Amino acid sequence: MKDYAAILARPHTAETIERLVRYAKIETTSDRHVDVIPSTPSQWNLARLLEVELKALGISDVSVDEHCFVIARVPATPGYEKKPTIGLMAHLDTSSEVSGADVKPRVVPKYDGKAIKLSADWTLDPTEFLELADYVGDTLIVTDGTTLLGADDKSGIAIAMTALAALLKDPQAVHGPLYAIFSPDEETGKGMDGFPAGKVKMDACYTFDGGRGGEIESECFTAYEAKMTFTGKSAHPGYARGVMANAVSMAAGFVSMLPRSESPESTDGWYGYYYAHEIRGGVESANVDVLLRDFTDDGMARRHETVRTLAAAVEAQFPGGKVSFDIRKQYLNMKKKLDASPEVLARLYEAARKAGAEPYSKPIRGGTDGARLTEMGIPTPNIFAGMHNFHGRHEWASAAEMVLAVDTTLELVKLWANA
Ligand SMILES: [Zn+2]
Repeated sequence: MKDYAAILARPHTAETIERLVRYAKIETTSDRHVDVIPSTPSQWNLARLLEVELKALGISDVSVDEHCFVIARVPATPGYEKKPTIGLMAHLDTSSEVSGADVKPRVVPKYDGKAIKLSADWTLDPTEFLELADYVGDTLIVTDGTTLLGADDKSGIAIAMTALAALLKDPQAVHGPLYAIFSPDEETGKGMDGFPAGKVKMDACYTFDGGRGGEIESECFTAYEAKMTFTGKSAHPGYARGVMANAVSMAAGFVSMLPRSESPESTDGWYGYYYAHEIRGGVESANVDVLLRDFTDDGMARRHETVRTLAAAVEAQFPGGKVSFDIRKQYLNMKKKLDASPEVLARLYEAARKAGAEPYSKPIRGGTDGARLTEMGIPTPNIFAGMHNFHGRHEWASAAEMVLAVDTTLELVKLWANA
């Protein structure tokens, strides 16, 4: 168990909690069915508030661009202009899986280890969520059971903002050129398509979009999506013998052949999966969308091959039917490019240790804005932000872990300035 009392006694605790609560109350649910960036107008509300708050910190170069990216450029301390430019990044939107409207965050000081009643129907129960036992003595921020909390990723925003505020207030602090970036539509995976890469030049960036204190993510899935099209042959069902090719059956046959032992619900850790996540259509034509996930290039090549083999197998079973598909890249494992700039992670580990966290690496079974930035040439690992049970009504945040992340950030900026 951590010494929560000592961590919570550090100077930035109250501000970090206050910021999370303030930002969580602003609805920013994104919508993956919309292709415009931002996908929802509500994200502008938080973007505009952050613009005002960043300016109030004394940063003059702050803008919100046409895609709702909040970008603040902080000039270096005089004499440190030539030092590497570092970015701090978090996302504005919250998952559409659970309502993010009218969020009522509640602060639970000195957690006693017992069940927390969120509302008449919802309880945060340590017998269901076992990790809560590790947080006795911490201050938790929870929901009222009707919405998500949105600590994913408003914890991240609160951490970056608190660290920036502390840095700019401290006359002793030195830093190289910095960017703070708050991005739209991370949850939809589409926001980074609008990233102003031509305008924002950074040597490294860090996203604050992770869970448990100490957790550092520098590896993610390589991700592709297979869009399958099954073309059948329609006929009157009473006279269809030997004539009909039913696209519904073809699609179902394809899905049933995907290995059940390599589905999201049967894998974890370093194992990838096939995830048929949408099916639609009728007798003449049906579509299945399948996400392919793997940590290695070889593994991903094998998954592409499986899709090809199963498509051919379905075609063979349904004379007259046709199967076509299109496999599109979504994002790549950032490990390879991060390995090429080892100092980016090395400084993060050192900073986390200096801040009193015990850093450890965990693979992300998903992607992040950081994976996209890394692909664009800006190495961007992910830092813990103290969020737990995200994308659900049982979401909660750990104040102590957020404070550790703030202090990690301050140490990190210092390390880069003295590089
Ligand atoms: Zn997130």
